Amino acid sequence: MAEALSAFFKSPPDGIPGELIEALGRRVTTSDGVLPPRVFLEVVEQSPVAISITDTRANFVYVNKTFERLTGYSYEELMGKNQSILSYKVTPPEIYQQLWDNLLAHKPWSGVLVNRRRDGSRYLADLNVSPVLGVGGEASYYLALHRDVTELHELEQQVRNQKILIETVLDAALVIIALLDDQGRVLLDNMAYKKLLGDMRGREPAEFFLQDMTASNDGDVASGMVNHEICYQPESGAPARWFNCSGVWICTSGETADSYFVPGEERRLLLVANEITVQKQQQERIRTNALQALMAKQQLVHRTREILSGAMFRFQGPLNIVTAALAMLERREGGRDDPLYRILSDVHDSGEKVLESLDLSLPRESNEPVAPVNLNEIVHDVLELCTERMLSEGLLVDWQPAKMLPTILGKQYALRSLLKQLVDNAIDAIGEPGCQRRELIIGTLACDECIELTVRDTGPGIPRGKQFRVFEPFYSGWIHRTRQAGMGLTIAQEIAIQHGGSIHIDSQHADGCLVHVILPLKPPAYLLSGA
Ligand code: FAD
Repeated sequence: MAEALSAFFKSPPDGIPGELIEALGRRVTTSDGVLPPRVFLEVVEQSPVAISITDTRANFVYVNKTFERLTGYSYEELMGKNQSILSYKVTPPEIYQQLWDNLLAHKPWSGVLVNRRRDGSRYLADLNVSPVLGVGGEASYYLALHRDVTELHELEQQVRNQKILIETVLDAALVIIALLDDQGRVLLDNMAYKKLLGDMRGREPAEFFLQDMTASNDGDVASGMVNHEICYQPESGAPARWFNCSGVWICTSGETADSYFVPGEERRLLLVANEITVQKQQQERIRTNALQALMAKQQLVHRTREILSGAMFRFQGPLNIVTAALAMLERREGGRDDPLYRILSDVHDSGEKVLESLDLSLPRESNEPVAPVNLNEIVHDVLELCTERMLSEGLLVDWQPAKMLPTILGKQYALRSLLKQLVDNAIDAIGEPGCQRRELIIGTLACDECIELTVRDTGPGIPRGKQFRVFEPFYSGWIHRTRQAGMGLTIAQEIAIQHGGSIHIDSQHADGCLVHVILPLKPPAYLLSGA
């Protein structure tokens, strides 16, 4: 090859490469002066890029060693042949056309062609061609540099295929997936995420999840988050949706030139969310059913206590008369020997025994523990429990909860019974004759060291004279519901007092009935001690 080079240099084909070399040699200078053109030729010869020079018809006049190695053709085989010797039919003719159009306009061209080697195998050639312009600006020769980029293309294709594969798998997944940069911008998402984006009417779900996760992790999601439950309440008023969300930080290498030698770390957050609305609704249904069963049990205990207490109360009347009669006979001389005294005495004793056994059979109420209670949640539970009844009565409910309501210390089930009694009464009141509007308004309000709960209905109301009596045992003023025992408000008042609070009917309220329940944040010591 050294000989071929030297021959080539001494007698360049058509004389032009010699001119070209000299021209380039004139531009390349060293401290000693002009770089010999031979050095330049050797550089070209030994270049790792396939270099060829052709005449204006694309006939080879020079190829370097790499060109020979890459195409499989020898220098001698190529001389005088056309570049089209490398053409392969899958390259579209328009590509060659662009190449030629550029060269004819004295412009360089670069692009990728499918080339065929001497042995028939193909490779992808990343080609740069440019005209070599003479002093008069005419193109006498063309210079071509090309590299085999088959492997690079295969790698790019593999990356592309993997991306398609990953995207297809992500899209098929039912879970919501998004990859975020450290500024919270979405870099990659799947179909489930896009669907949620549509449902949230343009609000970025990732931003919403991140806000919630950050808030509940003291402003930090740096350590990631696992199985965090998030509730989304649509502005349209549609039912709330629940998501179980996890965030995992992933560290990737930097992609910029700067990070080539000093790999910079880029942090990405992989957000994965599962919609658990159905499970939450099921849980809520189970909870409500359990509550309903518990309330029904408590109501049964209350009713049984009411009935037995009523029976004892009624029984006590005649027994008192017998006791009085016995006392009168005792005061009489010889009264104790009177046969009537013995009879009355037997009646009295067996009456006392009956009372005693009735008292023993009074079902005991369970001693519920004191715990922090959120009254808004209690109202929510009671409204859930009463939904069916309210719907069948065609009731319009207006629930006005205090936004920030402190918890109180109290007995959850007892307080739920208290409120349920008031709501049941309101529904009963609206069912009374002559009721025009069918509305129930419940509100909570945080006051100084206490919470006020109000239950208002648009029923017939309670006349002023009876506003205290309604709390007495066995008082019932209903017209339609005559079978009520009249213990509801008595029990409600008992619970309020037990919690150190109070309950009263608003005497100033004219349109229906308004009940105020005041409950202190901290109950009296006896409630806490469980006495
Ligand atoms: P061709 O008939 O050779 O050419 C196809 C079309 O190109 C023609 O229809 C015509 O429009 C245009 N064309 C061809 N010759 C000329 C011309 N002299 N003047 C104006 N337009 C013309 N091809 C490769 O396949 N692989 C290469 O690596 C490659 N390297 C090249 C390097 C240089 C410096 C040059 C100048 C050309 C190169 N070519 C290369 C193009 C090659 O010369 C052929 O044009 C191409 O291979 C198509 O060959 P073909 O036999 O299918 O059709």
